[in-house]
Amino acid sequence: MSEQSSILIIGGGLVGASLAIALDAAGIAATLVETAAPRAEAQPSHDERNLALARASVNGLEAIGVWRHARASATPIRHIHVSRAGDFGSARIDADKHGVDALGWTLPARELGVALLRRLDECTRLTRLAPATLAALEPLAGGWRAQIDSAEGRRCIETSLLVGADGTESFVRARIGIAAERHDYRQTLFVCTVTPERDHANRAWERFADGGPIALLPLAERRCGLVLTVAADAAEAVAALDDAAFIELAQYRLGWRLGRLSRPGKRHPYAIRRVAASAVVAPHAVLVGNAAQTVHPIGAQGFNLGLRDALTLAEMVAGAADPGAAELLQRYAARRAPDREGTMAMSHGLVQLACLPQPLLAPLRSLALLACDRVPPLQRALARRGMGFRGDPPLAVLERLP
Ligand SMILES: Cc1cc2nc3c(=O)[nH]c(=O)nc-3n(C[C@H](O)[C@H](O)[C@H](O)COP(=O)(O)OP(=O)(O)OC[C@H]3O[C@@H](n4cnc5c(N)ncnc54)[C@H](O)[C@@H]3O)c2cc1C
Repeated sequence: MSEQSSILIIGGGLVGASLAIALDAAGIAATLVETAAPRAEAQPSHDERNLALARASVNGLEAIGVWRHARASATPIRHIHVSRAGDFGSARIDADKHGVDALGWTLPARELGVALLRRLDECTRLTRLAPATLAALEPLAGGWRAQIDSAEGRRCIETSLLVGADGTESFVRARIGIAAERHDYRQTLFVCTVTPERDHANRAWERFADGGPIALLPLAERRCGLVLTVAADAAEAVAALDDAAFIELAQYRLGWRLGRLSRPGKRHPYAIRRVAASAVVAPHAVLVGNAAQTVHPIGAQGFNLGLRDALTLAEMVAGAADPGAAELLQRYAARRAPDREGTMAMSHGLVQLACLPQPLLAPLRSLALLACDRVPPLQRALARRGMGFRGDPPLAVLERLP
């Protein structure tokens, strides 16, 4: 005998959990299936990466009741500084010049995971199956039948709207017949915390160089989250460096604006690739978050973009007679397209343009940085996009729009 759930979300990572919470907050019942046990340390993406959350995302998390559980662990980003080694000029964005108290916040993914789990515990309409795994899918006339495996055995759930929030290697995406385009950046990203000699003053730094980008995000207690990208074939050697040599490499790539870096924490390596689904909807199915698009982390867009997927979907299915109706899903895909395509193109283009050693491009890059810094309409557009107000954003993120 099959159970029924009008919306079935596969994957309770950062985006799937946010969607489940947004639906519950809108009074919509759904089922959430997650392979990992509902403990922050069990979930792979609730790790040591530091997330730069755009202002719009924090508005959205506040609107669905997550932020009150996360606020105490977050650090405001009041200034952003972007530059490129070897080029003149830099682009700076300052919150006060745009009439806001912060452009975004840094929050360790682990802390966002804890906040989401606490908020999930408060949901009253949501059915949570965890640890449980989607094992098979079968199309029906008006939806999908999913086989879910857990320690209690196998159960079948029929749904009108199947949501694939199951990450980069999405099982849902493959089973519903959506292809994915892949690009291997041949880069490895090392994440750790460091203490700079000078106070970070709530400034986030992003610096591009021939070898790849490096970023520094402000954290509590004068610490900073360091994100250092190296070519994949150098990753083993960088992983083997002792702390002093690793700091020397980071310092060489970042420069000395914050003085000497010290006290590096444990290093976590990530292989970087881009995976873009060829479509985000199929009959009675939709992809959100990394299942729909996995972007280079250096632009700090993956979760921000995925959260806008989730909040837009929750907004559009609220009040709909059939959440899986073809017309609704087409409208969803059309509404998300400018943000999705623009953000993917920007993340990819930025890494390609800013990191490739193309000396002929250097003057153009420098002029572009200067223009972003000095030309008011460009600066405003950059700040607005940096704060996550892109495309036709979900209403939940607009509440504190400056
Ligand atoms: C180093 C690094 C730094 C980053 N920094 C930023 C940043 O600053 N800002 C930002 O916005 N983004 C950032 N990102 C990106 C961000 O972390 C991701 O975009 C985000 O975690 C994606 O969430 P998700 O829920 O879509 O996917 P995931 O986190 O991958 O979650 C997918 C979930 O699906 C579950 N699952 C998979 N298959 C099944 C199945 N068959 N059945 C049931 N469950 C299943 C998995 O267990 C998992 O929990 C960064 C990423 C990295 C690697």
